[in-house]
Amino acid sequence: GEGLPRPEQTRVMVVANQKGGVGKTTTTVNLAASLALHGARVLVIDLDPQGNASTALGIDHHADVPSIYDVLVESKPLADVVQPVPDVEGLFCAPATIDLAGAEIELVSLVARESRLQRAISSYEQPLDYVLIDCPPSLGLLTVNALVASAEVLIPIQCEYYALEGLGQLLRNVDLVKGHLNPELHVSTILLTMYDGRTRLASQVAEEVRSHFGKEVLRTNIPRSVRISEAPSYGQTVLTYDPGSSGALSYLEAAREIALRGAEKEREQHSMAEGT
Ligand code: ADP
Ligand code: MG
Repeated sequence: GEGLPRPEQTRVMVVANQKGGVGKTTTTVNLAASLALHGARVLVIDLDPQGNASTALGIDHHADVPSIYDVLVESKPLADVVQPVPDVEGLFCAPATIDLAGAEIELVSLVARESRLQRAISSYEQPLDYVLIDCPPSLGLLTVNALVASAEVLIPIQCEYYALEGLGQLLRNVDLVKGHLNPELHVSTILLTMYDGRTRLASQVAEEVRSHFGKEVLRTNIPRSVRISEAPSYGQTVLTYDPGSSGALSYLEAAREIALRGAEKEREQHSMAEGT
């Protein structure tokens, strides 16, 4: 449905968790599609050399396609690499190609190596409501670029044993980047993924995450769903692959929560500014 509040300023969100396979890419593409279906203009930036987000969005990303590598390393304008996502109005993607695997090393010797993505996004002139950045499962310069470019960190947490293990390292990195490079940065959103409501483990993990993080955790959990895992092999998000499935509906609901929380925060900031 339409009619959700759109942010006053572009919300740039990095989807991060240094563990692989926790649902970063799945969350990035499905939330982005959900926000677009709610009427927002959304850009997905694929910052993982694997290019899984590009694949899942049906975006061509063979070696010759202009990509986020050219933006980060060759200073190409972001607009020159952005492609519209087929079948989802308002959704765009800056793809990753295999070149990006070398960027982690090549960036080291470049000026402003931590803020190249942030510069590229701020020079992008098309109006956007959201930018969602999909990160590789490591805390190298690509992820640092994403943390510097964003105000919000979205952490997907898989409802499994050891769900919180290793998160400390991510949170310390968020604090480091906040302290040195990007004072705005904060963990705004935690999303529980691959939730299997039939198991006690899932509800125990959910409870643990909620008591640890509190209000940042979205009320909506993403269920474990075969439809979600099948969609990428058709170059689709679950939102077009099976719009009525529980996976699609849960991502739409998570997107709604994110939009409404953003609007609520804007209202609080306005009333603080007015001293009411
Ligand atoms: P990451 O980007 O963190 O490495 P992915 O998003 O690629 O993780 O997800 C890892 C695997 O889990 C993929 O095969 C994906 O299809 C599957 N997956 C992710 N979320 C779900 C879900 N809610 N239900 C079922 N499978 C999922
Ligand atoms: Mg991934």
